[in-house]
Amino acid sequence: MSTSTAPIAASSESKKPRLLVQKYGGTSVGTIERIQAVAQRVAAARQAGFHVVVVASAMSGETNRLLALGQKLSARPDPREMDALVATGEQVSVALLAIALNEIGVPARSFLGHQVRLRTDSSFMKARIRGIDAERLIETAREGIVPVVAGFQGIDDQGNTTTLGRGGSDTTAVAIAAALGQAVPCEIYTDVDGVYTADPNVCPTARKVKRISYEEMLELASLGAKVLQIRSVELAMKYAVPVHVRSSFSDAEGTWVVNEDESLESVVVAGVTSDKNEAKVTIRRVEDKPGRAAGLFEALAEARISVDMIIQNPSPDGSTDMTFTVSKGELAGAREIAGKVFQSHELFVREDVVKVSIVGLGMRSHAGVAAKMFRILADEGINIEAITTSEIKVSCLVAAKYHELAVRALHDGFGLGE
Ligand code: ASP
Ligand code: MG
Repeated sequence: MSTSTAPIAASSESKKPRLLVQKYGGTSVGTIERIQAVAQRVAAARQAGFHVVVVASAMSGETNRLLALGQKLSARPDPREMDALVATGEQVSVALLAIALNEIGVPARSFLGHQVRLRTDSSFMKARIRGIDAERLIETAREGIVPVVAGFQGIDDQGNTTTLGRGGSDTTAVAIAAALGQAVPCEIYTDVDGVYTADPNVCPTARKVKRISYEEMLELASLGAKVLQIRSVELAMKYAVPVHVRSSFSDAEGTWVVNEDESLESVVVAGVTSDKNEAKVTIRRVEDKPGRAAGLFEALAEARISVDMIIQNPSPDGSTDMTFTVSKGELAGAREIAGKVFQSHELFVREDVVKVSIVGLGMRSHAGVAAKMFRILADEGINIEAITTSEIKVSCLVAAKYHELAVRALHDGFGLGE
């Protein structure tokens, strides 16, 4: 990513205004009143001595509404046109926000993706950012004008409008913070007040976390905690952008997502999360010989179906059961492929499952974390159907009816409520 050579953040030695990126999500700009409240918050940050660059999402519900319109006309709408369509959501919200800011005496100017030259590749609906020309934003901010940038959208080499995938405004905001200079903080305003040790709707003892590492946040995001778009966390980690997830409905401190060495809470497990969106496929009595797994998973990969958990139990009579999980949306495709690859085998599918996971950097240096997880589940009478681990995560697939029980037991069993 091209970063500016002339950042205006020289705050350590001088009293020059520091740069700050504030990103407001859909609910934060969901109504005229909310937009006015956001304008006040931007004004307050300016008063506090910041040069603010604002990034906004579409008003809540708008992106879904636009997608549905396109889908009414075609089952397979042209992705280029879908991007031209959904990008209008952000065009509306940034213009409204700039109007609201001007109205309260804060000079502001809206910018679309092509105007800040947020350059992307040409993968419509899931484009990746290549670079941002931060100069225009920096110049504008220097003139005392608040740039209000449309999230989620960019422009490819041919001049087409592109979008970054659902939740992509988070990624726009982090990319802009990275392009503005070193360690420019990025505040992500949303409708929750931070990152929690578990979903508070599932686990009454869940606590807000003050600081969490990029790595832990990445695992939590990929496991279904939808506070931040995963790519935004990857980008923040790559460019060391300090991210502050907080609520636009209150002034309370939220959660800082930072480097792991920056005084994190010293816990083994940072959070418990769950994902109801997986389904399990088992193929019985597969010949236990080289190439069987390769044949299946190559065929799945070719169909771009991503597999999460995989288990294979060797059996004494030379045949084996093979189990894997995919997202529920890809189950039909996965089943068809497995059926083709293993024609005469019995195939079992289970959808009433949930994946519960514990995540924490401390696992690297503590033995027995997985064992403790299995013990906690066993003590609740919960059977484990599949397991996967990474360096900082252990996931267990269990029957869906145990969802809440498993999350609560793990959360409190690892002392996260204290
Ligand atoms: N408006 C887009 C969406 O709903 C981008 C975003 O909100 O981050 O996915
Ligand atoms: Mg979002």
